[in-house]
Amino acid sequence: MAAAIDSTYIVATAQQIHNTSPTATAALGRLLTGASLMGSMLKKTHASVTIKVNGGGPSGTLVAIADGNGNCRGYMEHPEADVPLKQNGKLDVGGLVGANGLLGVIRDLGEGEPHMGQVPLRSGEIAEDLTGYYADSEQIPTVCALGVLVDKADRSRVLAGGMLIQLLPGALPEDVDKLEKNIAELPSVTTMLAQGMTIEEMCSKALQGFQMEILDEYKVGYACTCSKERVQRALLTLPPKDILTLADEKTGIAEVCCQYCGKKYILPLEELKALADTAEKKAGKSF
Ligand SMILES: [Zn+2]
Repeated sequence: MAAAIDSTYIVATAQQIHNTSPTATAALGRLLTGASLMGSMLKKTHASVTIKVNGGGPSGTLVAIADGNGNCRGYMEHPEADVPLKQNGKLDVGGLVGANGLLGVIRDLGEGEPHMGQVPLRSGEIAEDLTGYYADSEQIPTVCALGVLVDKADRSRVLAGGMLIQLLPGALPEDVDKLEKNIAELPSVTTMLAQGMTIEEMCSKALQGFQMEILDEYKVGYACTCSKERVQRALLTLPPKDILTLADEKTGIAEVCCQYCGKKYILPLEELKALADTAEKKAGKSF
């Protein structure tokens, strides 16, 4: 099973929303690309995949969430953080993310209990960490390639893509060898995109010698699911007295920003008071 994506638009949108530094664009971009691929492999509209990475590096925690059609959103704790380039001139994503921590995946099919798994990070480079997740947590041989190129002069110009290939249970050892050989000879995803290759051409190059059948094609984007109701529900998880302190001292109005898309929600004092009351009642009940 293989999935491939041109995630240029998703990563460019994320860069604009979060104003990420070049290395942060690559880190969050790779995670969003990976989440989108994993989401689209679930093939269920109401499914979702949440990936959380905390490697102890300057970026802080990164989160990406994708739905079953590959639409995704994400955020990182310190989008402005950056680190020097590696000696080979490449963006040091592993250095920014850190490798001392965990990668957690929550897979919710929209029915029954969500599946949760957590593995130690391999390198903080994301693709290797996702491969490690599949190997350790799900015992599925997986090849994952993720690439984000950031323009040196204009950091909002990016090129991004990824591929996720999994062997079906019962795959023969020679199939594994053949695939590994293909992948070893495969140019990077961003090189192939820069050459103008289509997603289909990328897949057939990776799967040379295998039978390929195109099951689905999706158009994917950066999509947030926030709403005023969701913001209110999130606020209700705060202690009641903290809800009131969100209001601006002069205007009495609170401005709450969605951490995934930056959309602003305005809550006047009356609404905050009503929320605090509700939170108070809830807290009362739980004792
Ligand atoms: Zn939002």
